[in-house]
Amino acid sequence: MTDPGRQEKAKAILTDVTLCIGCERCVQACSRQNNLPRDIPTRYKAKDGLSGRRYTSIVRIAGAKPGTFRSVRRQCMHCLEPACLAACLVGAFTKTADGAVVYDDKKCIGCRYCMLACPFMIPRYEYDLALPYVRKCKMNEDCRVEGGMPACVTACPTGATIFGPREALLKEARRRIDEKPGRYQDHIYGAQDFGGTSVLYLSDVPLHDVLRMPSAKKLAKWRVPQLATESVPAQLGGWVLVTPVQFLAVSAGLGGLWAVRRRMKRAAERAAAAAEDRGEQS
Ligand code: SF4
Ligand code: SF4
Ligand code: SF4
Repeated sequence: MTDPGRQEKAKAILTDVTLCIGCERCVQACSRQNNLPRDIPTRYKAKDGLSGRRYTSIVRIAGAKPGTFRSVRRQCMHCLEPACLAACLVGAFTKTADGAVVYDDKKCIGCRYCMLACPFMIPRYEYDLALPYVRKCKMNEDCRVEGGMPACVTACPTGATIFGPREALLKEARRRIDEKPGRYQDHIYGAQDFGGTSVLYLSDVPLHDVLRMPSAKKLAKWRVPQLATESVPAQLGGWVLVTPVQFLAVSAGLGGLWAVRRRMKRAAERAAAAAEDRGEQS
């Protein structure tokens, strides 16, 4: 079967960090499009600004020259072979032919293994709600406005973030690097990293830390060099599958404990009843 993320019509987002002015219009447009409530500071709020109420954010990092900074969009990377999907026990995630990794809250049982499995630490949980779900960028038809573009892309005043077929965006990114080699790092983030993603980045400063996408050098040092080009499910399938196994083991353990406690309670009740009977007879 063809991998949906690699099909010809699969779409992607390319963000050119050198063009981003940090205005956060993409963030505001996403919130409006998805009817997200106002984001409130909670003790669970992460430093990257993503939360159950914010699917994309802008993170400031040091620029190439001292005293300057760059603004970098954070959002789900819409991996070609998503670890969240591989870890989910109930199939709540789907990689669509359109390139998006979508989440179905009707199927979700709240185990949060997707959050543990995601190498980019993207999915967030609605900790502040009585009935919480996992939340992340959707990049599906819910986001589309004029011309079928995601609202975040349409809102960008500088063209820093663009949307289109993944193959075409990869060519465009390569063209920009080749045309102005001094302007960019010679790396298209997400082209191959972790098996490839449908959210791509170009930059003049390293993005490994902010995207949580360790460099090939670091991956080699950690003895997982394969992740420079291959996905977590492909390379660490055993690890990812540990989570369902652990779930079943814990469930079985809790089930066994419950059964033992129930038996002990019933035995105690029977003993008390027998003692009461003996008392009445004497
Ligand atoms: S970035 Fe994380 S949440 Fe998004 S598709 Fe990849 S594994 Fe799933
Ligand atoms: S693709 Fe959709 S959900 Fe993702 S940041 Fe853009 S508008 Fe928000
Ligand atoms: S709207 Fe465009 S320029 Fe403004 S923060 Fe978002 S990506 Fe950067």
